[in-house]
Amino acid sequence: MSAPVAQRLDWPTLDAGARSAALQRPVQAVAAQVRDTVAALIEEVRTGGDPALRAISERLDGVAPDAFEIGESAFDAAEATLPAALKSAILEAAERIERFHRAGMVQGYTVETAPGVVCERVVRAIDRVGLYVPAGSAPLPSTALMLGVPARLAGCRETILCTPPRRDGSADPAVLFAARATGVQRVFVLGGAQAIAAMAFGAGGVPRCAKLFGPGNRYVTEAKQQIAQAGIAAIDMPAGPSEVLVIADDGADADFVAADLLSQAEHGPDSQVLLLSDSADLLDRVERALQAQLAVLPRADIARQALSRSRLVRVDTLAGAFEISNAYAPEHLILALRDPRAWLDRVVAAGSVFLGDFTPEALGDYCSGTNHVLPTNGAARAYSGVSVASFQNFVTVQSASPAGIAAIGACAVTLAEAEGLEAHANAVRLRLQRGSAPGSRE
Ligand code: NAD
Repeated sequence: MSAPVAQRLDWPTLDAGARSAALQRPVQAVAAQVRDTVAALIEEVRTGGDPALRAISERLDGVAPDAFEIGESAFDAAEATLPAALKSAILEAAERIERFHRAGMVQGYTVETAPGVVCERVVRAIDRVGLYVPAGSAPLPSTALMLGVPARLAGCRETILCTPPRRDGSADPAVLFAARATGVQRVFVLGGAQAIAAMAFGAGGVPRCAKLFGPGNRYVTEAKQQIAQAGIAAIDMPAGPSEVLVIADDGADADFVAADLLSQAEHGPDSQVLLLSDSADLLDRVERALQAQLAVLPRADIARQALSRSRLVRVDTLAGAFEISNAYAPEHLILALRDPRAWLDRVVAAGSVFLGDFTPEALGDYCSGTNHVLPTNGAARAYSGVSVASFQNFVTVQSASPAGIAAIGACAVTLAEAEGLEAHANAVRLRLQRGSAPGSRE
């Protein structure tokens, strides 16, 4: 028998400490070191601008391109070199992502809250947004679609995209094609925390962006959080190393479950994979399937590292599995159950849910239509995945006629007096007096 690929745990026998350790993400263990590294990189870009960006690129990505911005000819060359099948898959996926995201667009609304008092909420696009498309361990043109499509639907005036350089200093052609297809205006070859800092401050020719979007490794995620905490730019959410939690019953297909676990594990060594099942037999079968599939997986080394910190957990009941899942708040939740929809009401916190044996997470990663930029590291307890609304501001508007202020002014005066804010009360009283003068009522 070969060595176990992932840790096996028996939930009912674990004490509270062991249970909490079982749900700890690998990324938490290195947070302090990453925090310091990222803070230093952000400071280097803030104070050093363009030359600092060049030095960091050289140091971390082995290349400092002459110019960070991609020129028009590189987009044309990218389009010419890509296989036709890939280009049409990118366009096909973009079309479905657009259809789903368009249907969920939030509309403005108007309510007359009292006679003569009209309140509205109007929708405005964020003027300039910055997208990060990872390309460290694998270039992700799908991420360019997931961010570029909703940015275009929102109507952002300018959309900037940063993606790490390849060894020769160029950008991945499929990322360029996807960026162009969604209407991104400018692309820069910059990766990691330095790209986030460049978009936040405006450096290396990258214009300053009001809000930064996109997933990335721990350096990218930490940089976004530091930038947001310092109030320099807003961010979409913490979208770090990928995670999946699968809840499977005895009837689940072990090959399918193993393939789904591996599709997360191959993202990076710090990806997190959890399987919960009330069937010890299913866990055995999945373990064997993992061994078999790993043997032929090109990215097996990365997947093995991720799996070594992942867990296959036996639970007493499926209801208990949902409690564990809600406490963990996974980015992706797969329900490999016989009647998955019947269990959906139990899901309280998750980025995106995949129902049933024939809905692999990979469909949502690419082309079902939902967004794959999702909250990780437990952020799904309070954050949602990217949508068109992520690229918009919602501005409230109100207008009161003299009759309107007559209808609600006394309420405002009473509350202002109770709070001891005399100027507030006065601002209303003056108008009430003027509005009640003969001939002034509308
Ligand atoms: P990346 O583009 O996020 O990171 C690459 C950059 O990291 C490099 O350009 C380099 O500058 C920087 N870097 C590398 N080592 C460093 C170090 N020691 N110190 C400082 N900076 C360093 O690409 P990646 O590494 O492949 O990571 C992509 C991540 O995105 C994966 O973890 C994947 O799981 C995640 N992901 C998440 C979602 C989501 O929605 N949450 C979606 C897709 C991908």
